[in-house]
Amino acid sequence: MNNDNSSAQEQLRATINHAPVAVAMFDRQMRYMAASARWLSDYEIAVPFHGRAQYELFPQLTEQAKALHRRALSGETVSQIDDCLERNRRAAKWMDWTAQPWIGSDGAIGGVLIWSEDTTARRRVKRDRDLFMSLAQSSLDFIGMCDASFKPFFVNAAGMRMVGLDSLEEAMRTPVEAFFFPEDRDCLMTQFFPRVLREGHGEIEIRFRHFRTGEALWMNYAVYSLAEVASAKTSGYATVSRNITRQRQARQQLVEAQRRLQAIMDAAPVGLSYSEDRSCERVTGNAALFAQFEADRNDNVSASATDAQAVGRQMRFFRQGRELADRELPLQRAVAEQREIGPMELEVALPSGRRWWAEASGAPIRDERGEVVGGVAVTVDVTERRRAQDALRDADRRKNEFLAMLAHELRNPLAPICYGAHTLSKGVKNPQDTQRLVAMMERQLAHLVRLVDELLDVARISSGRIELKKQRLALADVIGQAIETIENRIQSAGHALILAPSREQLFVDGDCVRLVQVFGNLLANAAKYTDPGGRVELLWAREGNSAVVTVRDNGIGVEPSMLASIFDLFTRVKEDIGKQREGIGVGLALAKRLVELHGGQVEARSAGLGQGAEFIVRLPLAAPASGQDPAPDGAAMEAGALRR
Ligand code: ADP
Repeated sequence: MNNDNSSAQEQLRATINHAPVAVAMFDRQMRYMAASARWLSDYEIAVPFHGRAQYELFPQLTEQAKALHRRALSGETVSQIDDCLERNRRAAKWMDWTAQPWIGSDGAIGGVLIWSEDTTARRRVKRDRDLFMSLAQSSLDFIGMCDASFKPFFVNAAGMRMVGLDSLEEAMRTPVEAFFFPEDRDCLMTQFFPRVLREGHGEIEIRFRHFRTGEALWMNYAVYSLAEVASAKTSGYATVSRNITRQRQARQQLVEAQRRLQAIMDAAPVGLSYSEDRSCERVTGNAALFAQFEADRNDNVSASATDAQAVGRQMRFFRQGRELADRELPLQRAVAEQREIGPMELEVALPSGRRWWAEASGAPIRDERGEVVGGVAVTVDVTERRRAQDALRDADRRKNEFLAMLAHELRNPLAPICYGAHTLSKGVKNPQDTQRLVAMMERQLAHLVRLVDELLDVARISSGRIELKKQRLALADVIGQAIETIENRIQSAGHALILAPSREQLFVDGDCVRLVQVFGNLLANAAKYTDPGGRVELLWAREGNSAVVTVRDNGIGVEPSMLASIFDLFTRVKEDIGKQREGIGVGLALAKRLVELHGGQVEARSAGLGQGAEFIVRLPLAAPASGQDPAPDGAAMEAGALRR
């Protein structure tokens, strides 16, 4: 070995010791001659290594590595990629290395130089990257990344399929904006992305455009800004977005179904209510229900509401006169008892004071497992039906009373007629007696005929078969004729009849016979329901376009609660036993209907029992005839008729 050569070898060793890469020099027995600091740190060699064999330091080296070393020693340059260096109880290291022979001073191969690169960290990064890639590629969501100028550099396979892109190259040629519909772009670029930039992330429901079909895909577009590790500057954006077209359609269908259901419910003429909780704390329903309960659409109409101020808590419910607790109501019972509750009639008292009759039934709502999760109720307002039933019962009762009364009223005149007939048949000597008997029989017969006529009139009016023979009538004449019909009664009862005629002559269009009947009835009642020696007043005057006729007495009067019903057919106010006056409860009903047929109204007033009564008839005035003399009605009547 000459000096030059040995110094060259020394130089090589020195170079290797200071090389900035991992390199080591071995002799033919693979003993260390030199190693760079990087080699020592990569292979974690802390012990003195000079002259020690590589295989002694690393007994775990594989036969394959040793074979390669041998090949290098025989002159080849060999490489090993991804060589795994097992380490005791620690993760293996990965090395790429190249071994090449070095030539000694004698021209022969003196050993090998091994250049090595620790690829463990790079492999880890690659492995992580591969993992992320496979995650991204296997995801069914749209995963994409773009740079800060919105040029995509990654779109996963599912994403490309979703929007109809054929390749990553095509995706990379397509700016982010193009993924959206033109009308959405402005908001996206001017508002959404700046927000992502500010806040680091953002989420929006927006449509992606399918590049092939042009169809809209509703996406939940979640975007994150990508920051450069070193500068923390935004280098682009990443998105993991989900196709929610189906969910949106389902949501839309649900909303539409709900709207349809609400429309059907609101069109239903019955109250529909439902609760979606098992304690029925919140109850809502359709328009008819809110109308029934005088509530607003947002009110909680639950009688079981925990909030004492809730509208439902202000309602009260009664059944057969007993107030019900909320748990006894059909909806609450249906949920608690988990069964249908059949229709029950309830009386509802509203906070406004209005009371109405409801027929309500309830049923539970179950979920798909059959568990009761709430309830529904149907509430029908049956107030009218109840009223009709009551009216029917009332009418039936009155009919029975009427039949009894009629029998009685018919028998009264029949008894004297029978007596007269019997007496006459036996032969009466005295012609005066005969005359008296016949006159009595005629009077009773007339009474019978009047009764039957009135009944027939009522029947005719009820079936609409009465026809008025209307003509222009001087009201004073009509009233005069009516007075004639009751003069006898007034006189025999010893009443004073006081007339207060109109100052001007009044004309009405009417049926004379019928109007005489109306005023005759009112005057007859005044005479009848006033104890002997009373006072009957008859006043008539003009009020606007009406003639107003008042028949007033100071008789037994009418209890205010009865004032409206005395005009009902067959209604009579009960008097003390023995005091009941004759009558069948038809006169006022007849008078009212006749007045109404003339386009007028009749009204009764009384301050109460014993306070007298007043009946007021209003009739429309006839249009003035030309050349009519406006002489006062009083002038048309005989002075003697004014005061008796
Ligand atoms: P009737 O007199 O045959 O009973 P109406 O129909 O004429 O039948 O009258 C109905 C009821 O109204 C009477 O039964 C009576 O109780 C009451 N009534 C009518 N007129 C008067 C009056 N002037 N004063 C007090 N009560 C009256």
